[in-house]
Amino acid sequence: MSAADQTQKERPQKPALQPYLVAVLLVALATVLSFGIKPLFGGRVPLTGFTLAVILGASYGGLGPGLLATFVSIGIVRLVFQHANFSLLLAQPSLATFGFVGVAISLIVHQLRRSNVALVRAKNELELANHQLSKRTEALSRSNEELQRFAYALSHDLQTPLRTAGIFTERLALHQEAHMDEGARASMRFIIEAIGRMQAMIQGLLEYSTASHDGEDQKAVTDCNTLVQLVIADLHNSIAESGAVITCDPLPMVDAIEERLRQVFLNIIANALKYRADRRPEIHISAKRMGNDWAFSIQDNGIGIAMEDAEKIFGVFQRLHTAREYEGSGIGLAVCRAIIERHGGRLWVESELGQGSTFFFSLPA
Ligand code: ADP
Repeated sequence: MSAADQTQKERPQKPALQPYLVAVLLVALATVLSFGIKPLFGGRVPLTGFTLAVILGASYGGLGPGLLATFVSIGIVRLVFQHANFSLLLAQPSLATFGFVGVAISLIVHQLRRSNVALVRAKNELELANHQLSKRTEALSRSNEELQRFAYALSHDLQTPLRTAGIFTERLALHQEAHMDEGARASMRFIIEAIGRMQAMIQGLLEYSTASHDGEDQKAVTDCNTLVQLVIADLHNSIAESGAVITCDPLPMVDAIEERLRQVFLNIIANALKYRADRRPEIHISAKRMGNDWAFSIQDNGIGIAMEDAEKIFGVFQRLHTAREYEGSGIGLAVCRAIIERHGGRLWVESELGQGSTFFFSLPA
């Protein structure tokens, strides 16, 4: 059953005349009761009871039935009780006050009912929208998973023929180089380079599709200080060659898939070295607690990124430079974002062209 059907079912189907009948019935009952007990209590108490019963009648019906109950009861008071020297309420209010109270209560109840109906309608609409949203989210995550499986299968299956093409092209180049002119040699070089780039892209795609598959059970308490030291050791050559200075504040322990988190630090720090400006690279790594998360930051003094490209660089195969300017396949940051999001965090950059960049990522503390 859809939420809309349910909403329809939940809405009470009240006949239009019913509230009027109930209001009049209440007034009649109150009259009979008050008249019946009048001799026992000497007037004041039964009439007060009558008044309360009528007010209940007025409240029950809202505007129309409430006003009817009020006016019928004014008539009854005049006809039945007025000669009996009764006061209408404790402080002897007049019939006009009685009428005024009845009308005011009918109006208030009517207004309250209207806002209640509006509230129920808004609640039903919200539930319906929520239901549709969760159905859409479900469909989206299903198609996302299918897409990831497809990307994995495609990149996995493409690797073999591409590797064969690469091996045979290199073999051809090696054996036939002597018989080739300069043009043919250059063409051969382009083919080999293109195959290498395609292999790197397919490898990246494979990494990207597996990064989103990791399960919760693979997580363990991970010391980020150790991870960063391992990454610095891995990057020893480029650090030595560029003369980079890397500083690191004490970092926290987090619940993470160690190898994946290492990959994030490696990609971002390697980029900080690769996209350096004409000065000695200075890279600073730190973390601070922000609510329920740890916010890590990796700051460099490199070439920087224009803020309008700050989202673009996290897309698959999105690059701001050609392969000739800076080597790369444009998948590293997309993989990092997939990893961090899989850990329940966010990855973003703040930067200014020519002034360096700071990459931030959050992880649940
Ligand atoms: P790749 O480095 O292989 O091109 P990435 O996904 O790691 O792929 O980076 C995407 C793009 O973001 C890069 O091509 C580069 O233009 C930009 N970029 C990444 N890191 C930095 C950085 N620290 N400083 C300046 N630009 C960067």
